[in-house]
Order: sequence, then structure tokens, then C-alpha cells
Amino acid sequence: MQGLRRETRSSRSGPIRMAIALAIVLCAAPGWADQGGAGDDEPRNWKIMRDRMLERQIEARGIRNPRVLAAMRRVERHRFVPDSLANQAYEDHPLPIGEQQTISQPFIVAAMTEALDPQPGDRVLEVGTGSGYQAAVLAELVEQVFSIEIIETLARQAKKVLAANGYENVQVIVGDGYAGLPEEAPFDGIIVTAAPGKVPPPLLEQLAIGAHLVIPVGEAWQELRVFTRTESGLESKTLMPVRFVPMTGKAEE
Ligand code: SAM
Repeated sequence: MQGLRRETRSSRSGPIRMAIALAIVLCAAPGWADQGGAGDDEPRNWKIMRDRMLERQIEARGIRNPRVLAAMRRVERHRFVPDSLANQAYEDHPLPIGEQQTISQPFIVAAMTEALDPQPGDRVLEVGTGSGYQAAVLAELVEQVFSIEIIETLARQAKKVLAANGYENVQVIVGDGYAGLPEEAPFDGIIVTAAPGKVPPPLLEQLAIGAHLVIPVGEAWQELRVFTRTESGLESKTLMPVRFVPMTGKAEE
């Protein structure tokens, strides 16, 4: 890849590799309940479940950024999954959200968000809105989130849940995220939650100086990669092996 300056691979410990092994993409398609997430009258203590998720799955595996941890503690993940799966929302695996797509494992969301290094004034792009959960986590951390989803029904559902939960700084766009969003570029960070075989060049072009692109790249299993735009080009490192659904649209050509 042109302009690529450096390639480093960070070593990760056993628990992280185990977490990755759990990041299997599920393909069942249960569909959404009409009203979205679980209601307040459910007899569960969601906050206790979230605290436990943070402690056992996320802090225990080395996520340290206090703003990222606080955001993961705040966002009500059970509202972003189908009602029938709400009781599994804080478990250590991805869940189906319909249309053969998934909401990612909580640890993967935390790791990708930490790798993005989000700052309060940032404008960031997400490719692959899915349930809207990753967008909500980002919305807690930055000024403006643009999120592109290629499947219209998912985009519509995510918009509804994000609005219902007060996330006014997220704009969901229906389209093919391969091209990014040139009219809003450059971005202070770009996060991609579907895997292309190769990095889409427009996404690299739409990074501001100092910004990171966090993206799974590969076929069945992928590498989670972080590209950073510098004054003189691009740097890149590989974080860990992951398994995401494939990026569809132009990435498949
Ligand atoms: N970030 C999501 C969340 O928090 O629920 C999970 C994303 S799911 C693993 C991947 C999503 O990427 C799916 O909703 C899929 O439809 C979407 N996707 C796949 N290819 C895409 C493309 N070219 N442009 C935009 N979205 C795409």
C-alpha cells in the first residue's frame, strides 16, 4: 500500500486470544420487536449486568482508557438488541440483530473504540451501523458521529433506537460505506465494523492528520488493523485476529 510507513504487531496475552476466539459472527436472523429494546419494566438489574461486563470482560482484558470504560458503562446495550435476546446483551459474545448481521462482542467494541483514541471535540465516521450500539458508544465520547449502514431496515431501526435513547449527535446514513463520506471529510477517526478483503482507499484518504482508521481486514478471519495518517504518509499496526461479517457492496467487486 502506497505511503505505508511502518508495520508493527503487538503481542497479546492468552485471555485476549480467548476473547477473540469468542468473537464469532452469528448468522441467525430473529428480527426486531416492534418497539426496539427491552422495556424498563423488565425485572432485571441492567446496571449490575453492565458493571459485571465491564469488570470481567473489558477491564480484565486490558482496556484502560477511562473515558471508553465510562461510555461502555453508560450505554444501555440491552436496548440495541432484539427484545428476545435482551437478557444476553451483556454476555461475552456477539448477538444476531436480523438481516444475518450481528452486534459485536462488547470487548471488541471496547478495544476498537480505545484504538480510535476518541477526543471530545472529534467528528468520527463509522462504517456498519448495525444495531447502532457502537455509534452510541462513540456518541458518548465525541462531538459528532456519522454512521453508514448498507441495509436500510437496520439503518431505520438503529436511527429509531438512537433517537429514543437521546443520541442526537449521531447521523445514520443509508449507503455503501466503502466510499466513506467525502462531503463530511476529513474525519478525526474512522471505525469500520464489517470486513473488506482490502482497505478501501477512500477511507484512508478521509483521515485527518493524526487520525486513526480502525478496521478488520481479510476474508473468513481478519486482522484488526489501525492506520494512522501522519504529516508524511501512513503508519499501521495490527492489533489482533478478529471475525466480522464481510463488507458488502463495492468491497466485494
Ligand atoms: N457496529 C454494529 C453494532 O454496533 O451493532 C455492528 C456491525 S455488524 C458486525 C456489520 C454491519 O456492517 C452490518 O449491519 C452490515 O449490514 C454493515 N455493512 C456491511 N457492508 C457495509 C458497507 N459496504 N457499507 C455500510 N455498511 C455495511
